[in-house]
Amino acid sequence: MFEDKTLICKECGQEFVFTAGEQEFYEAKGFVNEPQRCKSCRDARKAASKANREMFVTVCASCGAEAKVPFKPREDRPVYCSECFAKMKESEETEEAEVIEE
Ligand SMILES: [Zn+2]
Ligand SMILES: [Zn+2]
Repeated sequence: MFEDKTLICKECGQEFVFTAGEQEFYEAKGFVNEPQRCKSCRDARKAASKANREMFVTVCASCGAEAKVPFKPREDRPVYCSECFAKMKESEETEEAEVIEE
């Protein structure tokens, strides 16, 4: 049986609990090492690696500002910066806007 364990995060130095359930999960996955980081540091790293994904820089079709998108923009499709995209989403409820697909 597993028991909750308190470990020290090597990233932020805080104690965190390696729960019995997580230990079971680790064993099921065949991981031999205990987690080195607390959940929030792991989440932060995950988010950071997501952010490091290749981004394509293009020009917003609406305001002309630089827009970064996680997909290769197609010439026949307008691309919007996150601000304009958010604005369009807001108005989507009243108008049928074209859905941008990847
Ligand atoms: Zn941490
Ligand atoms: Zn824009």
